[in-house]
Amino acid sequence: MFNLILFGPPGSGKGTQSIKIAEKYGLIHISTGDIFRNEIKQKTELGVKFKSLVEKGELVPDELIIDILDSALHKYQNINGFVFDGFPRTLNQSGDLDNLLGKDKESVTLVLALDVDDNEVVTRLLKRAVIEGRKDDTEDVIKNRLQVYKDQTYPLIDLYKKQNKFVGIKGIGSIDQIFDNICGEIDKR
Ligand code: AMP
Repeated sequence: MFNLILFGPPGSGKGTQSIKIAEKYGLIHISTGDIFRNEIKQKTELGVKFKSLVEKGELVPDELIIDILDSALHKYQNINGFVFDGFPRTLNQSGDLDNLLGKDKESVTLVLALDVDDNEVVTRLLKRAVIEGRKDDTEDVIKNRLQVYKDQTYPLIDLYKKQNKFVGIKGIGSIDQIFDNICGEIDKR
């Protein structure tokens, strides 16, 4: 299997690029943000628990994620692999992912991070707020999400660098240019 993790701050284009990658390489796109937004919309027991955290831009606790992820991964059989979009976001989650994939004798193949500076991210997300109306796309919450990314997710980059799995991708440019750079890295593997 080819298991790709796509990192990047909020607003870096992870979602858009993950969908394109999944389509081109026949991978399953797993977005934990989409899973959580869906649970909130359906007002499930978990959704009710997550709602205020997600709306404030805080991370959902690691222990609530693992079961959701386990069932998301095991819905599929005989597949080429996954694109993880927005997961893992903490060191604990990356350990959980290794364990889950390891049960099927699989592992993370490649980790890409879209690099976009803070000002660009804030501008993009405020535009998205007008189009999509996401509750976590207000200026204060965006700043908190950026801080959470730096504090909790950034350390994962070092971890994957040590494993020789990490490549940074310039996240500024057209969607197609960025996608070409991503494909260049995937095709090298
Ligand atoms: P995203 O769409 O990836 O930006 O995620 C939106 C929100 O969902 C985040 O700000 C978090 O509140 C929550 N979330 C998504 N993925 C995770 C994760 N892997 N761990 C914890 N919280 C998450």
